[in-house]
Amino acid sequence: MKVKNIKSFIDFYSSMGISLGIEKIERKNLSNLKKSNDLDTSKSENCFTKDSTNDLKEIYDRILNLDCNLKDIATNMVLNDGKFDSDIIFVGEAPGAEEDKLGKPFVGQAGKLLDQMLNCIGLNRKINFYITNIVFWRPPGNRTPSKNEINTCLPITKFHIKIFQPKLIVFLGNVATKSLLKTEEGISKLRGKKLEYIDEENNLRVPAIAFFHPAYLLRNPIEKKKVWEDLIGLHNYLKDEDIRF
Ligand code: URA
Repeated sequence: MKVKNIKSFIDFYSSMGISLGIEKIERKNLSNLKKSNDLDTSKSENCFTKDSTNDLKEIYDRILNLDCNLKDIATNMVLNDGKFDSDIIFVGEAPGAEEDKLGKPFVGQAGKLLDQMLNCIGLNRKINFYITNIVFWRPPGNRTPSKNEINTCLPITKFHIKIFQPKLIVFLGNVATKSLLKTEEGISKLRGKKLEYIDEENNLRVPAIAFFHPAYLLRNPIEKKKVWEDLIGLHNYLKDEDIRF
């Protein structure tokens, strides 16, 4: 393991509340090292470009025309956050209570955990990725969205992918993975594998990977130990494929 990886590894585990018992030694050894370029998050913020305004408007228009039963019971429609024309798109499941209140995805506990995880490998939603969900309104009581709700909203996520033509999609959890890959295989089998999103209609193929949903990690903290492997896999993939982040 490279030195910069050890530092991020320790930071990651301590931020997850997992003690390794080696923090003091490693931190001392690392204290004189310069911050790695890979972890540089000082690039300028650029969420929406002029060219993206029309695309965004079209996405909004399409969502407003959706006939989804969740629309009337939700407080807000929750669409997106992050850098609009990014090469990397994260796709979650559906908004929870906090997201419903604020109208932004992944702003509750699960979102905070996700930000912490991704910050460990230099990813920051304000700078280098875009995030959205399969379903745009909160299902009551945070239940899993129904097949009907998913199928109603799915064309919007597919439309996002079509206009972005990203270089990588990261599915967060089973709902995003199964809906966009048209598979019945669960996340435990699919995480760590190189996957591919295929949109035959638009002749589009996009590399993809699947992560545990951060809400699942909050409910099953023992699984957090596996997340490091997934994060390193993602980081290496971005570097190997020369994807800007
Ligand atoms: N879980 C999700 O899948 N999406 C959110 O926006 C929040 C929690």
